[in-house]
Amino acid sequence: MRKISDTVHSDVLIIGGGSSGMCAAIAARKKARSCGFADKDFQVTILERNRRPGVKIGISGGGKCNITHDGTVDELLEKGFFRKSEQRFLRHALYAFSNKDLLELLERQGLRTVVRYDGRVFPGSGRADDVLKVFERELESSLIQVLTGERVKRVENLNGVFRIMTETREFSADMLVVATGGVSYPQTGTQGDGLKIACSFGHKITKPLPALAPIYLDNAPSRTLVGVSLRDVTLKVETDSNSVARTGDLLITHKGLSGPACLSLSREVAEMRVEAGESRVMIDFFPNCSAETLGKKLQEHAFAKGGQLIRRFLQQQTTIPSSFVPLIMQRSGIDQEEKWGNLTKKARRSLELVLQNFAFGLVKAIPLEAGEVSAGGVVLKEVNPKTMESKKCRNLFLCGELLDYTGEIGGFNLQAAFSTGWLAGWSVR
Ligand SMILES: Cc1cc2nc3c(=O)[nH]c(=O)nc-3n(C[C@H](O)[C@H](O)[C@H](O)COP(=O)(O)OP(=O)(O)OC[C@H]3O[C@@H](n4cnc5c(N)ncnc54)[C@H](O)[C@@H]3O)c2cc1C
Repeated sequence: MRKISDTVHSDVLIIGGGSSGMCAAIAARKKARSCGFADKDFQVTILERNRRPGVKIGISGGGKCNITHDGTVDELLEKGFFRKSEQRFLRHALYAFSNKDLLELLERQGLRTVVRYDGRVFPGSGRADDVLKVFERELESSLIQVLTGERVKRVENLNGVFRIMTETREFSADMLVVATGGVSYPQTGTQGDGLKIACSFGHKITKPLPALAPIYLDNAPSRTLVGVSLRDVTLKVETDSNSVARTGDLLITHKGLSGPACLSLSREVAEMRVEAGESRVMIDFFPNCSAETLGKKLQEHAFAKGGQLIRRFLQQQTTIPSSFVPLIMQRSGIDQEEKWGNLTKKARRSLELVLQNFAFGLVKAIPLEAGEVSAGGVVLKEVNPKTMESKKCRNLFLCGELLDYTGEIGGFNLQAAFSTGWLAGWSVR
């Protein structure tokens, strides 16, 4: 790096060597080369607090790394980001560096990828570390200076030049990319440092909230239910004034709930809990039926199969695990040995209600640190979506999970980090 007085100077300095930071560095080098800059005349540096960049890539997808999702940019936005403001913001970045661009980059480095039946894309080897190695090779061939073990504490802008203070040293840069991630999994290095830096440049921050997180309940589920998976049920959470729901698979854990439907709903539940107090959790075992349709279905069944045990019918439903059957019967006030032919109209009505509103307790907590991502972050309105440049400070770029967007499970968060990082790096002048 060039020395300017006592500090070490870069043309572009990136704080954070995660998915977005590494992509920003690679794109910045590519842009500089395309503008005719010799590598030695254009210094790109990453400051990463961990000993190795990309720690989160290494643990993503349970060590298998769901890198991205198959489909067009529009499909990715539609499936992966539920809020229109997020879709609008991310559109430019996803076009600038799409899932296809990402896969090309990986394949160029010899990493084969596979698309699963549900559109999720993984490395063919099934190893997240192979994805990380590709990025490390790209950083090397792009001649990026990667300085690890450097935690940035403070940043200033003096007369258009950034001064970046780590715990032990000082750096300077003409252009700065902040790519420090969110605040979940703090043990991986993401502890909100970038939010403080963005704040120091006048950026507003939407308070971080958990997302893609488990839901803990006030009363732990009974041991007979722990580990039970439910397929295609609807998880409903309601307060006195609001309710949210998501259909999908659920997993009962020793503290409450997890699984795709729970993870997907957790952000909305966390937001709802900020506004209102007690949140009741319910499971709908017949998500594709209105109350009326279910009522009719049970009535017809009672007439047609009067001699059948009710529990037998419940056990035959693909959405009801057998360990739930005795509980459903008990809550409906129906004897375990009751047959359809003997069921009163009142008891049948009670069964209908329980099947679509199986109370599963109150939300106790949604742990911010245990979410795959955190919602909240730098307010999107203050960042130019076409360049990722801050509207508060020229030559300051912000990207990745630091920004106030949240993707669904399915590879959308990594893709958004890669895309926004790439756009930030490509936009440096
Ligand atoms: C367990 C888990 C599994 C996941 N699985 C998937 C998945 O399969 N698919 C998917 O799409 N998404 C997944 N995600 C989400 C995805 O990993 C993140 O959304 C994505 O990595 C965010 O990228 P980023 O670059 O914004 O932040 P990060 O990848 O978190 O990188 C930020 C980097 O900045 C560094 N840093 C922070 N502060 C400082 C500082 N002051 N100075 C220097 N460096 C600093 C951190 O050490 C870190 O390396 C998963 C997340 C977790 C936690």
